[in-house]
Amino acid sequence: MAAKGLDLTKPIEIAEDIFWVGYVVPNDPFQCHVYLIRNGDESILIDPGSMITFPIVLEKICEVTKLRNIKYIIMHHQDPDIVGCYNTLESIMPKRDDRRVVTHWRAYMLLKHYQWKTPFYLVDKEGWKLKAGDRELEFIFTPYAHFPGAFCTFDKKTKTLFSSDIMGAISDKFMFYAEDTEEYYEGLKLFHKHYMPSSVILNFALRQIKEKDPVLIAPQHGSIIKKDMIPKVMKILSDLECGLYLLDEKETDLFILGKTDKVLKQFFEDAILSSSFDKLLVNLLNHIKEEVPHVKEILVAGRTPVCKDGVAVIWVKDGKVLKEVGEEFPSKDECDFSIDLETNEGKIGFLCIKTERELSEKERKFLEVLFKKISVPLSISLSRELTYEFLERENKQLFEKATKDPLTGLYNRRYLFEYLKAKLEERKQFKFPLSLVMIDIDHFKKINDTYGHLIGDCILKEIALILRKSVRVSDCVARYGGEEFVIVMPFARLSGACKKMEKIRKEIENHSFCKDIGIKVTISAGVTEYKDGMSIEEFIERADENLYEAKRSGRNRVICK
Ligand code: GH3
Ligand code: MG
Ligand code: MG
Repeated sequence: MAAKGLDLTKPIEIAEDIFWVGYVVPNDPFQCHVYLIRNGDESILIDPGSMITFPIVLEKICEVTKLRNIKYIIMHHQDPDIVGCYNTLESIMPKRDDRRVVTHWRAYMLLKHYQWKTPFYLVDKEGWKLKAGDRELEFIFTPYAHFPGAFCTFDKKTKTLFSSDIMGAISDKFMFYAEDTEEYYEGLKLFHKHYMPSSVILNFALRQIKEKDPVLIAPQHGSIIKKDMIPKVMKILSDLECGLYLLDEKETDLFILGKTDKVLKQFFEDAILSSSFDKLLVNLLNHIKEEVPHVKEILVAGRTPVCKDGVAVIWVKDGKVLKEVGEEFPSKDECDFSIDLETNEGKIGFLCIKTERELSEKERKFLEVLFKKISVPLSISLSRELTYEFLERENKQLFEKATKDPLTGLYNRRYLFEYLKAKLEERKQFKFPLSLVMIDIDHFKKINDTYGHLIGDCILKEIALILRKSVRVSDCVARYGGEEFVIVMPFARLSGACKKMEKIRKEIENHSFCKDIGIKVTISAGVTEYKDGMSIEEFIERADENLYEAKRSGRNRVICK
């Protein structure tokens, strides 16, 4: 096996007297490296490895130096891929009283259970330094990356950093030296997302490493990083979100996990930031399209126990959101991919994806892994959305019922008093003119008697419409009693309100009511403007007095005082 002219069957000198003595396991994306610092009879073996690699590693060590020359065995932590061979190695190495296993106290607490004969050299007890002949090693504490007692080793002479798990990579293609390729960076990111608990922890470790300014980085996994690649690798890792989402019991395909992680990250960000479910769905479709461009539509159908009023169907297509409420769930026949949406209360619906052509095996797997992760938050979002919409509708209906008159759709008397109370309160803060009109239909009793109650109702409705459309949206038009109406006009002085009322009176006079029948109706009105200190009752009473005067003086007129 060769990599760019390197003979991987032999030890490879990566810096002066520093050798890679590992074994590349065929078809394993997770390679584990062993390094040896040739240093006379104080040679140093770094992370000796497992029994899988041991026979070859042993051969290579012996090509570089005699086994008895190994004085220090650094174990960056206690995982089996680092220490698995040590029982055997210890048993075959020529005995040496000054040989030491170099590790951190936290790893020692576990390693002691192997009952090796070699005593320990604890880096944290020895000032984070080791002097081996004239070679000086410094240890860098990188806690929780990924083991609580993890550390790295820095060789001062060559400025080589043995970074343990930090800057490792997973890759289908073995690269002895890291290459400036997408594939390498993807493997680097994937490794850290899996093994580093958080970006805070990783960044702490990266800062410690940066201080040493290494020119070569030799991680335990992945590829050796030469000087010119170090800044880019550092930058990528310091920006990386680690330890998130990427847990899948079955799927280990790098392609799928990488893509899933990207979409998941975006989805969870959206779930937190999106103001609505629609927006969440639009973004989700866009994120999926980036990975599988021929996905063209997402449809979500759902019904929650509180939403008794049908099945909501929301679908996103060509960047647009369409909504419908139906009796039944739509058919899944045309779905190219679908999943059930469930909350604690059970199944609430399903999500369906439509594509332009058939999904490949990998694309289907990607969608399966993705939706396995997001089906719960998506279901909760949908359930919340449906419930919210339902409650909002119901609230609106309740409010309408409580505040409006069913025949005319105008506000009722109760709301009118609430409204007036609020306006008078507002006026205490800053004064503004406020006028009130009291309207009464002339001889309405006669109209009812002549044409019947239904026609009477029709007239009331039409008058309500005329009143509503004639005044400002902010004015309050209420049905005060049987055929009596009140209009409250904030910011209108008596003259303005009077003018407006006169116009309405004329319009009603000229209007032919109830279509074919063409009934003629007139109204009388009393207008007044609020004066400081008046109560609501007094305010209405004044308008009513004016109305009475309008009636008395012949009807079909407006009195303003
Ligand atoms: P005036 O010009 O003096 O106001 O005479 P009027 O007949 O309009 O006055 P009155 O107050 O005597 O009659 C009001 C009538 O309005 C009595 C009632 O039959 C009618 N009315 C009240 N509410 C409704 C209603 O909801 N629908 C119908 N069709 N008529 C109503
Ligand atoms: Mg009346
Ligand atoms: Mg009347």
